[in-house]
Amino acid sequence: MPLITDLVKIKQIAEEKEVENDHFQSFLKLQNEQKIDSLTQELNELITPKIDCTKCGNCCKSLMIHITSEETVELADQLNLTQDQLKDQFIEQSEQGQMILNTIPCHFLKNTSCSIYEHRFTECREFPHLHKPHFIRRLFSTMRYYEICPIIFNVVEQLKIELSY
Ligand code: SF4
Ligand code: SF4
Repeated sequence: MPLITDLVKIKQIAEEKEVENDHFQSFLKLQNEQKIDSLTQELNELITPKIDCTKCGNCCKSLMIHITSEETVELADQLNLTQDQLKDQFIEQSEQGQMILNTIPCHFLKNTSCSIYEHRFTECREFPHLHKPHFIRRLFSTMRYYEICPIIFNVVEQLKIELSY
C-alpha cells in the first residue's frame, strides 16, 4: 500500500476510521504480543525512513517533553546560556517534580523543523515509540497520535493489512 503523508488527508481518514480503529485495538489486544511487536517493529523500520518529519513537526506541537539534567547541561552549552538562564527561559517543573519544556508547541520548533535537531531530547528521539516492545500495552497512548503522526498512521494501516484485518 502506498504511504499517505498528507496531514489533512490523514486527519480526515482518522475521523472516518474512528470506530474501525476502536475495534482494531480490541482485536490487537487478543493477539500474540511478540508477533505484534515483531510485525510493528518491522513495519516501523520500513516506514519511518520514508516519512519526512521535517515536513510535519506535529509531535512537537502536542507533546509535553521531559528533560534530564544531562540534557539541560548539553543544551545550555549549545545555546550559550547558563543553566539558570536556560531554566528561566525554557524549563519548568511538572507536578511530579520532573523537568519539562515550558511551552507546547515546543520553543525549538521553527515552522515544521526542530532548530536543535542534533541536540534534541531523548523523548523527542523516541517518539512514536514503535521500536519498543509491548506495543499492545501502549495502544491508548499510541493511537492518541494516529491522526497527527504519519508514522503511526501508516504503520497501523499496514499492520491491518498484514494481519488481514
Ligand atoms: S526539541 Fe525539537 S524535536 Fe523535540 S519537541 Fe522541540 S522541536 Fe520537536
Ligand atoms: S508526528 Fe510523527 S511524522 Fe510528524 S514529526 Fe513527529 S514523529 Fe515525525
